[in-house]
Formats: sequence, C-alpha cells, structure tokens
Amino acid sequence: MAIHLKEKGIHDFIILEKAESLGGTWRENTYPGAECDIPSALYSYSFESNPDWDYKWSHQDQILAYMDYCADKYGIKSHIRYNKELISAHWDDGYNHWTLTSKDQSEYKATTFIPAIGQLHHPSTPSFSNQSSFQGSFFHSARWDHDIDLTNRRVGVIGNAASAIQFIPEIAKKTSSLIVFQRSANWVIPKVDRPFSTFEKKVARIFPFFLKWSRLRIWLTGGALYLLLEKERQTLRRVFENYSKRFINKNIDEPETRKKLIPTYKFGAKRVLFSDNYFKAINRENVHLETDEIVQFTSTGIETQNKHHSLDHIIYATGFKANPFMLGLDIRGRQGIRLNDAWSAGPKNYLGMTVDGFPNMFMMYGPNTNLGHSSIIIMSEAQSKYITQCIQKIKVGDIKSIEVKESTLNTYYDNIQERLKKMIWNTIEKSWYRAKNGNLSNNYPGRTLEYIRLTKKVNFNDYNIN
Ligand code: NAP
Repeated sequence: MAIHLKEKGIHDFIILEKAESLGGTWRENTYPGAECDIPSALYSYSFESNPDWDYKWSHQDQILAYMDYCADKYGIKSHIRYNKELISAHWDDGYNHWTLTSKDQSEYKATTFIPAIGQLHHPSTPSFSNQSSFQGSFFHSARWDHDIDLTNRRVGVIGNAASAIQFIPEIAKKTSSLIVFQRSANWVIPKVDRPFSTFEKKVARIFPFFLKWSRLRIWLTGGALYLLLEKERQTLRRVFENYSKRFINKNIDEPETRKKLIPTYKFGAKRVLFSDNYFKAINRENVHLETDEIVQFTSTGIETQNKHHSLDHIIYATGFKANPFMLGLDIRGRQGIRLNDAWSAGPKNYLGMTVDGFPNMFMMYGPNTNLGHSSIIIMSEAQSKYITQCIQKIKVGDIKSIEVKESTLNTYYDNIQERLKKMIWNTIEKSWYRAKNGNLSNNYPGRTLEYIRLTKKVNFNDYNIN
C-alpha cells in the first residue's frame, strides 16, 4: 500500500506498527522450519522479483529480509511509527476525519484510515481441564520460546495443521519423544522443495524474464487448482485425495498410523498442506501420533482417554483467532456506530475493503479476501491500487468522504455468500474460515484474476461521495 501511494506521488501518510520492527507474520512466526506454503516467485511483489531466493519455497528469515529490503528500497521506513499499537479509530462526522489512538495514548488525525492488520496474528490457545496444573513449560507456535532447548526432552504438540507440520520435522530430530495430539487429520501433499543453485540465481539475475515466467507459471497452476475448491469437482478432488493417500503409504510404515492420517473431510475444505518431511517425521521411532481426545492436563503431562503422556514441554500449534475481524480494535464510524455492532450478523463488506457507515476506511486483507489456491500478495497489490484511486479522488476532488452505498454492499455480499455455498469450504462446520454466525467470512470464492478485474478501476457510482 505504502509503495503504491508513493509511486503515485502521495507521501503524506504514516504507518502505525505495533512492534519495534516490521515484518508482521514473518516477524512473529519464528518457529523452527517456518517457511511459506506458496512458492517464493509468487509470494513476492510482481514489481520486485528476487533472483536471490535460496529455496523454491522461502524460509521465514529470507522473507523477512526481503520485506526489509523492499521497505528500504522504496523509502517506506521513514513513514513507520514503531511501537504504536492501534487500539481505536473513530470517525468524526463534523470534521470528516479519523482519530486514531495507539496503546501509548498517542493520537493521530487522518482523512483516510487503512486497517491492514492481517487475519492471523492473535494466537489461539484453547482451554483444557486442569491446564494450569502442568509443571513443565508451554508456549504457542507463534510465540516460540527460543530459550527452551528441546534436545532430549519429552515434548507434546497440540495441533497438526499448517504451522505444526513445518516445525514437527525439525524438533523431532532432537526430542527424546514427541507426541503429536491430532484432533483431525489434514490433507498433505508433497512440497517438492529444493534449493536454487548458484547457477540458477545467476541466470535469474541476468535474465529477469525467467523469474517472471516462473511467477506466471505458478500463478496459472494456482488458477487451475482453484477448480478443486468448487464443490462439484468430485473426480478431480478424488485424484488429489488418492495422491495424498499414496504419499502417506509411501512414508508411514504402520497400517494403524496410516489410517489415522487420512482426513474425514474432503480435500480442500480446510487449507491443503504442503510438506516433504511431515509424514517422515511421524514415522520416526521417537514420534507418536495420538488421536485419542485430550481429557485433561496433569502436573506431569497430558491425559488422553486411554493413556497418560509424561511431558517436559507442551507446544500449542492451535492456530489463531481469525474471527471476529479486527479483534481488539474499537472502530467507530458515522454516529459512533461500532464496527463490531455493524458486523454482529457477520463481517459484511464490499470487495473485502469497504463497509457502509465507515467512510474513508479501506481494509486490506479484509473479510472474504483470503485464498485457498494462490498468493495473498496478489490480492494485496490489487487492493493497494484500488485504495490509491480512492485516495486520489479524495485529494484531487477535495472530497470530504467516500462511503460505499448500502445497496452496493448488500448486492455484492449476498452474491459472495451465495457463491461460497458452492465452495468446498462449506462442507465442514468448523474451521477458522467461519464467523460466529456460521457464514464463511474469510475466503474469497473466485480466482485472483477475477478479483484483479473487479478492483482494477473504482466505479465511483458504488459510493456516496460528499
Ligand atoms: P490452524 O490451521 O487453525 O490449525 C490449528 C490446529 O490446532 C488444528 O490441527 C486444530 O485441530 C488444532 N486444535 C485447535 N484447537 C484444538 C483443541 N482444542 N484440541 C485439539 N486440537 C486443537 O492453525 P495454524 O496451523 O497455525 O495455521 C493457521 C493458518 O496460518 C493456516 O491456515 C495458513 O493460512 C497460515 N499459515 C501459513 C503458513 C505458510 O506457510 N504461509 C504457515 C503456517 C500457517 P482441528 O483441525 O481439529 O481443528
């Protein structure tokens, strides 16, 4: 967003950053093995190809370094105000501006407010019976405690999804025993990762075309994989389910464990996981897959229906509080209406960016813009271009406020919800894709190309402009 604003000659903006450095998810998730589940060529800006990626799927430290490099290159850092965690944003009807307040009570006035706070940054730590009785140490995967040495320790991991499958193979190499508490199995397919050779990097630097080509190829593949997310594609889905089952059979020796690893839901209904080494780790002698329900914690470990597991450390890989959106933020629009109240029946939005009653507010990675088949960077770039057009309109036209029409929002949102019913995510009741009212609130039901087209040029007839 910041890069795009500057490109269009808009420099009078600030970025409130809650931490003391930039990086968002790539600053916070430092667990061993943290890496992206989208190939680097597509998980990077379209205008800033990087010939120096070490791996096809980048590791956390290199993505963080890439972000830092981009912030320097495009002159963004001077706009960032660190340690300024936003707690409230109130629209003032009289003065037509937003008043933003950070945790340290700093106050800022702004004509435009862009919440770009992400969907997955409040760790979720479920409650278990007698949880506080456990005498060992515990932490969440997004708050990894690097002071704890897991070598030759007995470790329990609760959860087995995107985060867990990345660090389990790493810690399994050093723990004396590792118990993976799995509530539901997930679909996993090979990542087929590999390091790039020095020669490949050199070629990419001399001929940037190869990087563009690689990006295009991965993007098109994602577009094809989108088909898997449509409920009706049963045959295609079965092909992938069988592929995943063969992957299990190839890597897991015990027939009982193989069975436990086969999901009961349809391929694609939750995030499909990519890993070359997760099943190999589960197959290790020191690793045990526990599928019995956790009954309670004890002072020395975790008790399941049939067994007590003695543990020194427990790691929660239990995900994030994705709903409600904007958790912890007191956002108030016209006449003081709270966003939480406006969204009591689900996070209604237009294009995942605007909400009626909340003028000059444009969300990035807002509701219904998450993807199951491609890179979120594509959505962010589309959104930044769209929002920049709105800001230009406000600036050039001396406009006080721009606010999506209720009718436009309702038509768009109803259509999105109708389409979501036909998506595979709608076949399961529980996932982080759902809001409290049961609506699929996080994901976008189309391809990225469709979203790019839809947001390319702002139709100002969709807005009330004052
Ligand atoms: P998640 O997908 O929400 O998975 C949470 C795990 O914890 C699941 O296995 C869940 O089991 C389990 N769990 C939750 N509550 C539990 C309870 N009370 N008892 C037992 N098990 C419980 O979280 P995540 O793995 O951190 O991933 C979240 C999202 O972050 C991903 O979908 C992805 O979008 C993103 N992510 C991306 C990357 C990347 O490479 N780019 C890496 C990591 C994460 P159930 O399945 O039974 O609910």
